[in-house]
Amino acid sequence: MATNGRAHHTRYAALKRAVLTLGPIRRGSLVRRFMPCDKPGCCCQASPPELHGPYYQWTRKVRGKTVTVRLTREEAHLFEEWISNGRQLDRIVAQMEAVSLRITQRLVKQRRKP
Ligand SMILES: [Zn+2]
Repeated sequence: MATNGRAHHTRYAALKRAVLTLGPIRRGSLVRRFMPCDKPGCCCQASPPELHGPYYQWTRKVRGKTVTVRLTREEAHLFEEWISNGRQLDRIVAQMEAVSLRITQRLVKQRRKP
């Protein structure tokens, strides 16, 4: 890729536009699990077991503790998208930082030129 300053500014502008089109975000992660119950003789305790589910959960850390929220399948679908948006935002911000480093390094270098 070209190392001229203009290319970095163009890239930076594109990243800012990408943030504008991003939908709402959620942090944490989605868990899809099958579980046994405590009913004696239930099929979930047979061998091999037929577990109940799927159950959907949204888990996240709140002040160092894992918090879990049960979701319906429809909600899980939405959360999947929102969590994906959050990860996309992280990737965009990481790229903005990388491009900014190049831009600012260049600016510092230009100022130091005699
Ligand atoms: Zn059961």
